Amino acid sequence: MKFNIHYSEESFERYMSRRTIPRIITKTENIVLLAIMRLKINTDKISQFTVKFRHGRVEGYSNLFRYPRTKEVELTLNLHFIEKSSKKAVENIIYHELGHLRDMLDPRYNYKPTQIDKMSEEAFKKFVTIWNINIDSRLNNKGLPSAVRGRKEDIRYFHIPHEMVKKIWNKFVNFSEMVELARKL
Ligand SMILES: [Zn+2]
Repeated sequence: MKFNIHYSEESFERYMSRRTIPRIITKTENIVLLAIMRLKINTDKISQFTVKFRHGRVEGYSNLFRYPRTKEVELTLNLHFIEKSSKKAVENIIYHELGHLRDMLDPRYNYKPTQIDKMSEEAFKKFVTIWNINIDSRLNNKGLPSAVRGRKEDIRYFHIPHEMVKKIWNKFVNFSEMVELARKL
């Protein structure tokens, strides 16, 4: 696996020149590499792992993209978030995103990106909520960084029934099972 931190965007370079970014980049890189190890992510299945910093008006804190054909993975992080947040908050986000990646690469999870593409926005949101709760509960159970408290808020917000929470809380649930559960929401 090739690992590189990407900051080639012109606007980012301008931004960098005005600030002491290197420390942030090093801190983030260390968190990502350690998370890859601790989550036992199968790096044989990754050709290149890129960490990309975004800044300015960006949606959310972080996104993970995986390109199955080339086996490339891209983790996009909001630079302002990294700059302003505690190490713990940054770790929570990174471990969460890599939790998605670990599942995607796990044959038992049986991830089907083509099925994702066909989902309506509403169906996708429900599916991702199930997946998010599942990931953070599993991380939390292993004593790894996780934003499990925020997920408890998701459960209330999406009115996820207690029985369903029991099925996804700290259990291994595969892709099709998650899709099925999301359909019932
Ligand atoms: Zn997520």
